[in-house]
Amino acid sequence: MFKDSINQSRQQGIGMTSERTRLRMIAELRDLGIKDLSVLHVMSKLPRHMFVDEAISCRAYENTALPIGHGQTISQPYTVALMTQTLLNKPRKNVLEIGTGCGYQTAVLSQLVDSIVSVECILKLHRRARDLVYDLGVRNVKFRHGDGFGGSAEHAPYDGILAAAVSDDVPQELIDQLAEGGRIVMPVSKNGSQWLIIIDKIGGRVVSQDLEAVRFVPRLSGLY
Ligand code: SAH
Repeated sequence: MFKDSINQSRQQGIGMTSERTRLRMIAELRDLGIKDLSVLHVMSKLPRHMFVDEAISCRAYENTALPIGHGQTISQPYTVALMTQTLLNKPRKNVLEIGTGCGYQTAVLSQLVDSIVSVECILKLHRRARDLVYDLGVRNVKFRHGDGFGGSAEHAPYDGILAAAVSDDVPQELIDQLAEGGRIVMPVSKNGSQWLIIIDKIGGRVVSQDLEAVRFVPRLSGLY
């Protein structure tokens, strides 16, 4: 699974970053209705405290979003688990992730699909996530600095697309780059609130359903 040779002391952690604390988070995710055992297993192995600043690493296993700099946040563990479980209602091979952020969601997904293209529009976050996920031993992710809502045509079609920033609509490019049988999971704004929606491409048609109300950071336009 994840390489444990880097920075042993930080990775093993003590007290609030220990494996025991991480397993409490997993128990909480189960209580909240996360059922996919492979998602729970990967999250039980992934050191979330390594994805946030050391000063707040004691809070890494709380079920909460935390700042990662540049006005962005690492998603709440429940949200990561829910999105991953929803995307993986059936096996997915080639996945596009929009909004790499700190790379936590990317690392979870990397263990559950064949390959990922992960796009982030803030250069410093893109670089930091790329290096950290690489150091954890993950080799099936292509990290890109760019506007992810245009997709990444080069590696399309995708049988899964996941976005971590809220948008007013579902860009046509993403629908075009979705394979037959593919699924998009993303937050959209509707009448002042945000909903996590599921879009399936079935028989060339697009079928959409609302999953639950969520809170995400807004989609940015341009590169930073
Ligand atoms: N799953 C990530 C979520 C990070 S927050 C994590 O847990 O760390 C959402 C991320 O989306 C931010 O890093 C933000 O910079 C990025 N983002 C926002 N708009 C974007 C766009 N148009 N293209 C690519 N990334 C975008």
